[in-house]
Amino acid sequence: MGTTLAQGRGRPEFARTHAQRQRRCMRALLCQVCAGPADRTEQGVLWLVENDEGRADELNWPEDLVTVHPPICAPCARQALRLCPHLAGRGSVAVRVKDSAVEGVYGQLYRSSPHSPVEGRRDAVFYDSPEIRWVLAAQLTRTLRGCTVVGWPPQPAAPDPTHIPL
Ligand SMILES: [Zn+2]
Repeated sequence: MGTTLAQGRGRPEFARTHAQRQRRCMRALLCQVCAGPADRTEQGVLWLVENDEGRADELNWPEDLVTVHPPICAPCARQALRLCPHLAGRGSVAVRVKDSAVEGVYGQLYRSSPHSPVEGRRDAVFYDSPEIRWVLAAQLTRTLRGCTVVGWPPQPAAPDPTHIPL
């Protein structure tokens, strides 16, 4: 019981810290792991996108995807692959994103009731949605556009030994 209470006290603090970092990384396109600059090439900024239910096979995926995950830098992407081999399977796909914009938030939705607002679902809400007044925002969302799936694991390295794939 005491442990449960202690966890209950600790969790909101952690959540707040995590949310601040998430918002900073999302706004400034910083790596979600190390908070350094995300990897960027002419094709765009590097994102690891979860391949939910094999959606990577769909045409134009992940165009217009709304994500709460900030981008990533190349060293962290490689390390993630090394530490989590499941990423190399169908788990995640490396995507270059030319255009993206912070267009909403993800958080706890509430709805009005005669007495006080009641909790609804947790969801992503766009800034221009009427529901935006009813969301306790925790994280920023970015909509990804101009996406190029670059493959995961990365393509074999080019002959140039100084060239690092991703
Ligand atoms: Zn990083």
